Amino acid sequence: MYNYLMDKTTIMHHEKSKKPGELTQKERVLELVKTGKADNVAEISGILNISKMSVYRYVRALIRDNDISKTFNKLYPYAHNVPDVKHTDSYPKCGVCLKHIADERLTITVIWKNGKKFEFCCTHCAIMGILHLIGDLDSVSSIMGRDFIYGNPLDLRNAFLLFKTDVIPCCSPPILVFAKQDDAEKFQKGFGGVIKSFEDIMSHMKF
Ligand SMILES: [Zn+2]
Ligand SMILES: [Zn+2]
Repeated sequence: MYNYLMDKTTIMHHEKSKKPGELTQKERVLELVKTGKADNVAEISGILNISKMSVYRYVRALIRDNDISKTFNKLYPYAHNVPDVKHTDSYPKCGVCLKHIADERLTITVIWKNGKKFEFCCTHCAIMGILHLIGDLDSVSSIMGRDFIYGNPLDLRNAFLLFKTDVIPCCSPPILVFAKQDDAEKFQKGFGGVIKSFEDIMSHMKF
C-alpha cells in the first residue's frame, strides 16, 4: 500500500532519484506544500498515506519552525502568507483573509517573542490567526490593537471586547476593542453585542 502510493507521487520519484529515505515525513509534508502539490491536511494524508493526526503533528511542527502557515484549512509556504510591510508600496495584507490592511484603528499587530510580526485587518482575523497560524500563545509577546473610540493602543489581553455587535467595520462576526468597560457598555447599549475578555473569545472560537 505504501509503496504503491509512493510510486504515484512525483515527490517520491524525486526522493528516489536522490537517496531513499533521505527526507523525513515532516520534510515530505513541507515539500508537498512548497511545491503546491497539496495545500490541506486531507490531501497530504492521502498522498503520503499517513494518518491525518500525523499530518497535523508535522504541520504544527512546520508552523512552529516558520516553514509554513495555515489559514483556515489551507496551508501555505511561509513566505507566501506573511505580509511584508517593507517592500509593499501599497498596504500590507491581513495574515488571515489577505484583505489589504487600510484602517489603522482596526489593525491588530501580533509580535512574537522571536521578533516576527503578523498583521491582521481586524480583531476577528487576529483571533483566527492566533488560533490557526500561531497556535501557541506562549510564543507571542504582544497582541496590539486600538481602542475603537479613542484609537489608543492596547494589548487585546487587557481589552474589553465587544463581540457580535451591530457595527461591522471589517470582518464578521465583528469584535470591537475597548480599553474601558464603561465605553464598551455604552457602545453595547446602542449597538448590541456581548462584552468578553480575550480569553473568553479564544475559548469561544476554539474547536
Ligand atoms: Zn483579515
Ligand atoms: Zn477584518
